Amino acid sequence: MLARGAGQRAAEGEVEGRARQETGVAEDAWTRVKRRLRAELGEDVFSSWLARLELDQLADGKAVLSVPTRFLKSWIEAHYLDRILSTYRSEQAGLSGVSVVVRSAFRDPAAASRSSAARPAKTTSGGEPALAAEPSREDRVPAQATPLGARDERSTAELAGAPLDARLTFESFVVGRSNALAQAAAERIARNDGGAAIYNPLYIQAGVGLGKTHLLHAAGNQARAGGRRVIYLTADRFMYGFVASLKAQTSHAFKERLRGIDLLVIDDVQFIQGKTIQQEFGHTLNALIDAGRQVIVAADRPPGDLESLDERVRSRLAGGLVVEIAALDEGLRAGILSQRLAAVQATHPGFEVGPAVVAYVANAVATNGRDLEGAINRLLAHATLTGTNVTLETAEVAIRDLVRNREPRRVRIEDIQKLVATRYNVSRSDILSERRTAAVVKPRQIAMYLSKVLTLRSLPEIGRRFGGRDHTTVLHAVRKIEKLIGGDTALSEEVELLKRMLQD
Ligand code: ADP
Ligand code: MG
Repeated sequence: MLARGAGQRAAEGEVEGRARQETGVAEDAWTRVKRRLRAELGEDVFSSWLARLELDQLADGKAVLSVPTRFLKSWIEAHYLDRILSTYRSEQAGLSGVSVVVRSAFRDPAAASRSSAARPAKTTSGGEPALAAEPSREDRVPAQATPLGARDERSTAELAGAPLDARLTFESFVVGRSNALAQAAAERIARNDGGAAIYNPLYIQAGVGLGKTHLLHAAGNQARAGGRRVIYLTADRFMYGFVASLKAQTSHAFKERLRGIDLLVIDDVQFIQGKTIQQEFGHTLNALIDAGRQVIVAADRPPGDLESLDERVRSRLAGGLVVEIAALDEGLRAGILSQRLAAVQATHPGFEVGPAVVAYVANAVATNGRDLEGAINRLLAHATLTGTNVTLETAEVAIRDLVRNREPRRVRIEDIQKLVATRYNVSRSDILSERRTAAVVKPRQIAMYLSKVLTLRSLPEIGRRFGGRDHTTVLHAVRKIEKLIGGDTALSEEVELLKRMLQD
């Protein structure tokens, strides 16, 4: 049997493993699918949208993949489901469909499978009727939630924010010199029971993978354990759910709602953009801070560099305590590795990694916590698939790609062209061609614009890379798109999303 059923998962408590297949064959095909998607779509796109996809179940020819947020689920369904299916199919004969569900870390697993059973995921299945063979977990888990109940739960959930991951706590956060201040400030706030807000807002600034999200969840979990009402929002959630839900309320209901929050946590505020949305953001921020409610935010840059935000909002953000998490030093990296290792060993008791290997990985993987976690996962996959112990030699092979990718990747014109082409359903050669139909011209201009703003290439160089065009053509395209963006919110958001997909 390849997959374990939801009932059994519930029984196991679903602590760490989310019913990952130990079966070599299943794990292997999925690992290859991810590797290919990464290679084909580019590192940036992959890490933004697909890196957190996990294989939950493979049964009856259907793969059930999971992601941590509903936003990711709908984005993947809208843009990548067919791609994933076709890639998966070529690696796994007989696969008939792929669906994406939201995995829940904060509810009891039985409730989580109930609600996903009540709302079947969109399934891509070539040839067959779309929902012909839904994941078998539905057969095993009685759907107890009524559809109405599920809907209520959903609209409340929109306002209640995103779930907190129970594994991201202060206990599992390793403290070192580079993050001690941020950790201390977050913990102080989280343990501040009933007192007035301290440093408001707390603004945590750090590059990717340095522990911002971990700290925010830890603070949220801690405050919640202390009986405080916490709302955790990602920028996505803020933009696409929260603001819309707020708008649906009267301003009285909105104020009531705010009064019900003790701690508002917003992650990745650098992604908050759009005129209305940033106004709502400023509005929410002011209302909470003025009412003495605690706010914690995280971003990848200092408040002054949040170009998409209004000057007043920026200075409000800078008005509390701004702390930075610096690059993780080698000792801290070793600490995080040991911590991750211990967590993995709780579910994989046979998995042994000696101190020499830990020291080697800590030295070799200098980037961030995400890559350290990736390294542990690779070692685990290697050990599980080959049934051998991890040695320095095997470790070196298993983490080779992480070591090689030490340099942050810059956006490449080729990736821009590919992404824009996929997005607008044209081919990359259409973009490079002489064709002048509207269906091709606009994506081409958008791609040129993105090449100008996201890379350091000169206009003549960009022209060359777009089928040998003149630099004035590029300049024209850049100006045209700039102008369109100024007056067209939908296009501006579209372009922002593309930028984001290419960048982070
Ligand atoms: P960010 O939000 O800054 O991009 P994350 O909080 O998502 O980074 O961290 C990336 C990964 O590294 C997570 O799995 C996180 O648990 C882990 N991590 C980062 N810093 C630490 C730390 N100090 N202790 C333990 N784990 C950490
Ligand atoms: Mg984060």
